[in-house]
Parts: sequence; C-alpha cells; structure tokens
Amino acid sequence: MPIWLMSSYINAALRRLVATRADYLCEYCLIHEEDTFFGCEIDHIISEKHGGETDAENLAYACAFCNRSKGSDVGSHVQRTGAFVRFFNPRTDLWADHFAIDGVTIIALSDVGAVTAQILDFNNSERLFERQALQVIGRLSKRGRCHSHGKTHLTLRRQRDVRTVIVDGETLVDDGKYLRLNEEELLEKVQAKGEQIWDSVPKWHWTGKSIDEVVLPVV
Ligand SMILES: [Zn+2]
Repeated sequence: MPIWLMSSYINAALRRLVATRADYLCEYCLIHEEDTFFGCEIDHIISEKHGGETDAENLAYACAFCNRSKGSDVGSHVQRTGAFVRFFNPRTDLWADHFAIDGVTIIALSDVGAVTAQILDFNNSERLFERQALQVIGRLSKRGRCHSHGKTHLTLRRQRDVRTVIVDGETLVDDGKYLRLNEEELLEKVQAKGEQIWDSVPKWHWTGKSIDEVVLPVV
C-alpha cells in the first residue's frame, strides 16, 4: 500500500456516506455542521491507535470540538466509581439512551454518557452559549435532535476571539463586545425567545410538510 493510502485515508465516497448518514450533525453533541464555525470531521470511533479500522462501521461524524477533545481515547474513568468506561458509540448506541438535553445542557443518563460528556467537554460555557443561540432559531430541539433546515433569524459566527450574534437582524454582540446588553441579560433574552419558539411548536404542523415548507415562525 502506498504511503498516502495508509489506513487513515478516507476517500470522498466514504466521507460522504458518513456525513449523510449523520444528517450532517455531530453524532456526539448533535450540533449541525452549518452551525459550527470549524465544521465537522470524520472520527474514528475506536482510534487507529487502539486498532480501530477505517470502515463505515467505525466512523462517525463529529464536530471539531468533540473530535479534538476525544482525541485517540476510547473511554475514561467514571468520577463516581473510578471504573474505566468506554465512550458513546454512535454506531451501536442510541443517543437518547445515554444523554438528554435539559435546557441547553447535555446531561448524562449512563456511565457511558457521563465519561463522554466529560471528556468531550459537552457543557463548557462557550458551548452552552452556542446552544442557547441555536435554541432561539429552533435548531436545537428538546428531544436532542437538531432541525437541519428552517429559516434562520440568527447568525452566530466565531473567529478566533471574535464573536458576532445577530438576533432577528439586530446585532447584539459584535467583535466580542456586547453592544446593548450584558451577558446575563443576553442569555436571558436568548432563553426567553427559545421558550417562545418551543411554545409555538405544536402550531407548526410539521407532519406531512416537506422540508421547504417548514419555516420557523418569527416570535
Ligand atoms: Zn460535537
């Protein structure tokens, strides 16, 4: 095998399969690749270092943050017992068996969930903020699935230490500075708008609609 075709080589067709199978969501934290500045990457569920192969059943779609945090680890020690427990496996585990979303926090429902949430750092302050922003535009559901389509009222961009937040066309944060609100007030506003959106979900009649017909209401 030529050097450039070592086991870690993932061809375009395999990349496409992994991405479409995941609906373009990180299979760990469920963020959509369009919503994360650094995009998503192909993750070896069992790292090559630990004998994992480069085939579809050992690959997952992961945002850069989850993928980099996971590194080549395959599990970690549970704080409660000290026992070594494997990470969540998107190919064989159901997300909802191991995690749930409480507000914008991903909580663990099992030891597998606990070590995964801890090492992949699901709930650091930056990611909580990001999830709150996504909740506003209905791209984060209470069931822990992200809606991958819908009219976007909010733009969230991150570039190095620069962060811009625009809600319904109004710039609230620009160049990392809060223009109109302090952070606490902003989070409250984001949270309140998120709840308004979710309160109106039953009125949307998602069932039977095509993706193009599903547009988030302006609240
Ligand atoms: Zn992720």
